[in-house]
Amino acid sequence: MDKQTVFHMDQENYLPVFARYQVVLETGEGPYVYDNEGKKYIDFLGGIAVNVLGHAHPKLVKAVADQAGKIIHCSNLYYTEEQARLAKTLAALSGLDKVFVGNSGAEANEGAIKLARKYGKTIAADKVEIITAEHSFHGRTLATLTATGQPKYQKGYEPLPGGFKHVPFNDIAALKQSMSDKTCAVMLEPIQGEGGVNIPDPDYFTEVRALCDTYGALLILDEIQTGMGRTGKMFAYEHLGIKPDIVTLAKGLAGGVPIGAFIATDKAAAAFGPGDHGSTFGGNPLACAAANAVLKVIEDEKLLNNAQAMGEYLVTKLNALKGKYPALITAVRGKGLIVGAKLTRPGRDIVNECMKEGAIINCTAGDVLRFVPPLNITKAHVDEVIEILDAALAAV
Ligand SMILES: *Cc1c(COP(=O)(O)O)cnc(C)c1O
Repeated sequence: MDKQTVFHMDQENYLPVFARYQVVLETGEGPYVYDNEGKKYIDFLGGIAVNVLGHAHPKLVKAVADQAGKIIHCSNLYYTEEQARLAKTLAALSGLDKVFVGNSGAEANEGAIKLARKYGKTIAADKVEIITAEHSFHGRTLATLTATGQPKYQKGYEPLPGGFKHVPFNDIAALKQSMSDKTCAVMLEPIQGEGGVNIPDPDYFTEVRALCDTYGALLILDEIQTGMGRTGKMFAYEHLGIKPDIVTLAKGLAGGVPIGAFIATDKAAAAFGPGDHGSTFGGNPLACAAANAVLKVIEDEKLLNNAQAMGEYLVTKLNALKGKYPALITAVRGKGLIVGAKLTRPGRDIVNECMKEGAIINCTAGDVLRFVPPLNITKAHVDEVIEILDAALAAV
């Protein structure tokens, strides 16, 4: 089907909530995607931090195909080996205890919010407040867009659920002032992804953890974007020397198959019993088999080391571009393979220019070019993107 026909069909019948680029993607292999006219792009957006193994990784393809041939779905009224195996692996990797699997990031956060509320009520009837950060992103459901500290995601959806407060990120004094015995949880991203790749001071999270302990509040870390090896460790909190009470995951967890999960300590998880939470599709054997395959490949192919090394290489290369275009790039920041380049102006035309020349990146928070490529990229892939970006910066 030609491009124009697809555009037309989509514009007639798909809800127009996305500002799409004028491209119809068809296939992918490794860090490359191809459109339906055969044009090749190097993909450093990876479905927004989702395709951690790149596209069509043979081990992931085989796991999904094999599982689809056995059983795709069965109700959570029954056990499956794939789900039990995933729970065991995630608990061991995280150092936490109990896992719940859903279908998306927003759902993972909804589950974490629900658990925090139930937990708070085991202590006091009014221990229900959840504190999150400005410029955060936690999802698009009514509770998670309320948790999200960006008014643009909330406008028009009032009345919003109550009990949420927002404080500036990386400001321990502001958090301290907002906390009380009514706080049941503090929910934060270790690095704000959608907010512009914002990295807090090294001791911020140590102090957040201490405040949560002082007030008996749970610390929920939203690692939907930073988890699954993205920062060079399986979970970003491993860099911080702290442990959360709940961590949420989604994006990279099953390498592109829809999934979300939260992992909680036994202490927090004890607030949930049979009937308190659930999902029809969540934790189905297809998604769990995909996640199990992704986790195995991350280990077998030593992708944590690679993410760290390639992240450092990418940051070095971007800093060279910052030196070359000081009027355009003012800062480069990142941890492993979540990297941002702060611009002096909106970045959309730079992204468009890169696409024209065959590289997919994106711009978040208006003026931060974001790079969240597959974890198995090589230096040659980085060089390829940098060369295209260099030309794009020269062109704008
Ligand atoms: C993407 C994202 C979400 C939402 O995930 P969905 O699967 O789109 O619901 C939540 N939190 C963070 C940090 C994210 O990056």
